[in-house]
Amino acid sequence: MLKGKTAIVTGASRGIGKAIALKLAENGANIVLNYRSSSIDDIIDEIEAKGVKVVAVQGDVSISEDADKLIKAAVDNFGSVDILVNNAGITKDGLLMRMKDEDFDKVIDVNLKGAFNTIRAASTIMMKQRSGKIVNLSSVVGLTGNAGQANYSASKAGLLGLTKSVARELSARGITCNAVAPGFIETDMTDVLSDRVKEGLINNIPLKRLGKPEDVANLVCFLASQNADYITGQVMNVDGGMVM
Ligand code: NAP
Repeated sequence: MLKGKTAIVTGASRGIGKAIALKLAENGANIVLNYRSSSIDDIIDEIEAKGVKVVAVQGDVSISEDADKLIKAAVDNFGSVDILVNNAGITKDGLLMRMKDEDFDKVIDVNLKGAFNTIRAASTIMMKQRSGKIVNLSSVVGLTGNAGQANYSASKAGLLGLTKSVARELSARGITCNAVAPGFIETDMTDVLSDRVKEGLINNIPLKRLGKPEDVANLVCFLASQNADYITGQVMNVDGGMVM
């Protein structure tokens, strides 16, 4: 389905990003895998085992020079940027009254500014190509808000505005931009929740389970494919029905 395409996935060292990189590779895309600090040797082997090429680029997406470097690596190694998945994200939770300036700024810088940085850099190439698929990882809390996550929810809501603006600005050049809003997915990010909290969450999920990274990767892969050519500016939840 994606044979010969070049896909960039940010924050792909673990969790949802890793699952997305593997799913895109399984469908034939060559992968530019961005990571910040985790070890990635195993993932490289797993991706190569799917018969595609992979290039790993260390970098912090909140730094615009690092984002530029990532896009350049795709062009230098594979000659195009067909798919950009903005997955890198962090949390620094805390109640509003006690939230430090740096905790607010850091989350916005990585989650929102990071996506802006990579999209700006990729857009030049995609506009020349007159094609491209951009998928941004938002969250259901970007739609609903969440106590203790003012910074994170704001960054994820901001991503929705960014997604729709990019969709409007670049659609004339054949570029689509959509957002995926996961609910609670089993990764390191949600591993910090107690069993009691997880049980409470599951009670509010119609499908009665937390999501798996692959549940999100399946939708991202669809949005990155030609099967989604007529879909842009949309937000799609992967949340077991939690928000509807
Ligand atoms: P995770 O397990 O915590 O992994 C986060 C990934 O982002 C890691 O690979 C991390 O790299 C990378 N990263 C963090 N800061 C970065 C930076 N400045 N530059 C480049 N990479 C960076 O998170 P996850 O659960 O897979 O979440 C992935 C995305 O889905 C995030 O945007 C998250 O907000 C969103 N999401 C997750 C859930 C959920 O329930 N898990 C729900 C809704 C939305 P290192 O390994 O080097 O730290």
